[in-house]
Amino acid sequence: MTENKNSSPHALYIHIPFCARKCNYCDFHSMVSETKTINRYLHALEKELQAFRGQYLIKTIYIGGGTPSVLNESQLEKLLSGIVRYIPASEIQEYTVEINPGTVTKDKIEVLKEYFVNRISLGVQSFQDRQLKLLGRIHSGEDAKNAFALLRMHGFQNINIDLIFGCPEQTFDDWEKDLKVAMELNPEHLSAYALTYEDETPLANDLKNKIVHRVEEFVELEMYKMAISYLTRNRYNHYEISNFAKDGYECCHNRVYWENRGYIGIGAGAHSFLRGVRTANEKDILKYIHGIQENTDIKSFDECLPQNLYAAETIIMSLRLRQGILNADFYERFGYAIEDKFGVQISRLQKHGLVTYEGDRLKLTEKGLFVADTVMTEFL
Ligand code: SF4
Repeated sequence: MTENKNSSPHALYIHIPFCARKCNYCDFHSMVSETKTINRYLHALEKELQAFRGQYLIKTIYIGGGTPSVLNESQLEKLLSGIVRYIPASEIQEYTVEINPGTVTKDKIEVLKEYFVNRISLGVQSFQDRQLKLLGRIHSGEDAKNAFALLRMHGFQNINIDLIFGCPEQTFDDWEKDLKVAMELNPEHLSAYALTYEDETPLANDLKNKIVHRVEEFVELEMYKMAISYLTRNRYNHYEISNFAKDGYECCHNRVYWENRGYIGIGAGAHSFLRGVRTANEKDILKYIHGIQENTDIKSFDECLPQNLYAAETIIMSLRLRQGILNADFYERFGYAIEDKFGVQISRLQKHGLVTYEGDRLKLTEKGLFVADTVMTEFL
């Protein structure tokens, strides 16, 4: 499907499904691969990107994974030089690459700089080696600090740090230490996620076999509250359930997802969402490469969202933002007010003090924030 290039801007996600090693908790679409497959994959990516040339106004690019920084310098250069060939650098407002502290080098950072990357998301998860070992990360806390310093030294002024809380055996003290080290580094953005035990991961199996023990739910909630209070005291805006940013550094790319607007995904398993149609690329890396080479359809999934589901999903995603959703915007997109279709649910949630209207904005209350998943299911 093509849209007028001058229509609303889009976000472009590029998936690199390779990692140096699988982490114990990870069920993301990624694998350890040899150079030859990676090179073939990069070639396929460029071909897929080529097909989009000039069709969309791309304002944000996010290269994620997997581990984009697992690419060597020449692979990284091939990827990034291919991107600027099809998307003018002058159009891009925000250009993020995910970096693993265990695979970053000075030369790779120089390549990122040369090709206009202006935001880094550093997968730190924890600064404590005991915890990193348990999570199966390939880096130490010291590696994370060094990677951050190296990025700063090369002029990156917009860096996100990812942290995980609620890990087995993690204490409040451990978590506070992680937050403290992060604050000393002074990133522009910080994401704090609760650990999830995804089925069939080594960590979930260890949990099942009682080798590790889950922290209690109330402990996890207190850790989340601790993060909110610690980070807001340090002048980070808590702008999304799991995300905190200094003024002006909210992630523009992810905002597109949270507002349920159009995005394009390139690469194996990547999803796109255009004019209410959601598609996903073939997940299997070799099948994806083959499909691109042979010019066959690489979509494994294709769904035109019914209007009521599209509207419900838009409310759910937007409620993740602390500012909530503006009724006027919703009206402009769907042709009716939120109350017209979801009045019953909203009244019920208001009665329980979980959502509120602030002017024309529907948002989660503080109470609603801590049970956000339950609130969201009301709209489905
Ligand atoms: S580095 Fe990220 S994508 Fe790769 S295995 Fe670890 S958590 Fe998963």
